[in-house]
Amino acid sequence: MKFIETRGNDGIHPSEVTFSEAILSPIASHGGLYVPKELPNLGEAFLVKHLSSSYKTLAKDLLTTLAIDIDSSVIDEALSLYDGFDDPSNPVPVVKVRDDLYVSELYHGPTRAFKDMALQPFGVVLSSIAQKRNEEYLILAATSGDTGPAALETFKNRPNVRVVCLYPDGGTSDVQRLQMVTEDAPNLKVIGIKGDFDDAQSALKKLLGSASFKSALKEKQISLSAANSVNFGRIIFQIIYHIHSYLELVRQNVIVMGEKVYLDVPSGNFGNALGGYYAMKMGLPVEKIIIASNENNVLTRLINTGRYDLRGEKVIPTTSPAMDILISSNVERILFDLFGSVRTKELMQGLESERFYPLNDDETMKLQSFFAADYCNGEEGKGYIREAFDHGYLMDPHTATCFKAYDCCATKKLKTIVYSTAEWTKFSPTIANALSGEVDAKDIDALQSISNRASLPIPAMIKGLFTKPITQDSVIEKENIEREILKFLS
Ligand SMILES: *Cc1c(COP(=O)(O)O)cnc(C)c1O
Repeated sequence: MKFIETRGNDGIHPSEVTFSEAILSPIASHGGLYVPKELPNLGEAFLVKHLSSSYKTLAKDLLTTLAIDIDSSVIDEALSLYDGFDDPSNPVPVVKVRDDLYVSELYHGPTRAFKDMALQPFGVVLSSIAQKRNEEYLILAATSGDTGPAALETFKNRPNVRVVCLYPDGGTSDVQRLQMVTEDAPNLKVIGIKGDFDDAQSALKKLLGSASFKSALKEKQISLSAANSVNFGRIIFQIIYHIHSYLELVRQNVIVMGEKVYLDVPSGNFGNALGGYYAMKMGLPVEKIIIASNENNVLTRLINTGRYDLRGEKVIPTTSPAMDILISSNVERILFDLFGSVRTKELMQGLESERFYPLNDDETMKLQSFFAADYCNGEEGKGYIREAFDHGYLMDPHTATCFKAYDCCATKKLKTIVYSTAEWTKFSPTIANALSGEVDAKDIDALQSISNRASLPIPAMIKGLFTKPITQDSVIEKENIEREILKFLS
């Protein structure tokens, strides 16, 4: 499979690249992204063939069909990381919660959020490409809480890759911070920034533009890469679980092969939803993809009105922080697929210069033939958490947004797959508040109170964080980031 560019080619970048090239430098001409040149139609035969396959067998066949330039043995090693999930024979359980609603649990990996689904195998793939080319890579990540722990976990002790992770000191949950500051490997550096997530992110952007930083890296023969969710190396692993979840429903005799379903996705940067869209394009029987948002509802407005409008908008902090986003990067890949590169470039440049683009009526209808959307505020979300708990299911605030979207958007009587993106342990104060009204509980107290109420143990890897030694204790002013990183690299 070859990759082309969402905003067309500038005559400087190569006109098409391989999968490994798209992974190593994910940004294409005119600031665009790489997308598959074409996707195969898998047909029902592929689904039937994998009705009794394990997750890894399905994944291997899909990646082989997509013909990426990664050695078969490396793919096997990458997929073997799913053996570290709670149930190696089924890393992604799908459970019935109510009526026609089934939850696909994407959080059974080491850091208890769905970022592991893609980042776990991605770490092996990126490190192996770097080794093969005999090159050293530095991955810089700014995190608001879930990407950081998952990136550190996947790259720890992997050859030819170093990771520096910036987080806002005081801006993450205790669990998320401890997951980062207790990581102990010579190729990892975690830095707390005095400021909020935007400060961390803008500091990182500034660094990427700094001439002295670039020349220092060049001298050390280190190249920069990225592990954020625009990297197609992550997207590719997010197609698999949509197909798996559908097959699970067939296996559980909930649907018959070929029956259409809704996919209901809690969305931020749109990587998860994009994986579902590609699965649908390749022939998965999907009626529509329902996009769930929180109070930062740009995606809901885009899909319902055809207007991407950020004028006068600011990020609103919510109880589902992994979805607190205004610029949802992977939407660009949908624009390309539906409207082509010339139009995508025009729209994206509009967004960058005017903070706004309008789709025309035909385009809006086309978008709506694939997607429906709604958003859920924090109070509504807590209501859904309480209601699900009363029926025996414990879920996190991101997953809860999908229940509102289901009530609003699943208009046909079809089965719906809701994607659960985090375990209750990662957002326990909000859940404890929803269940018993307690406010401002510390994570450790909220975990204990939910555990008692639900008669569920706190998972060992979460409980252990509170007694693990802190090995990454840098908390610095953002002006000192460059110096701190260069110190780590020398
Ligand atoms: C990252 C994340 C999301 C958003 O996923 P996207 O692929 O960026 O749309 C939702 N929920 C949780 C818990 C996350 O960590």
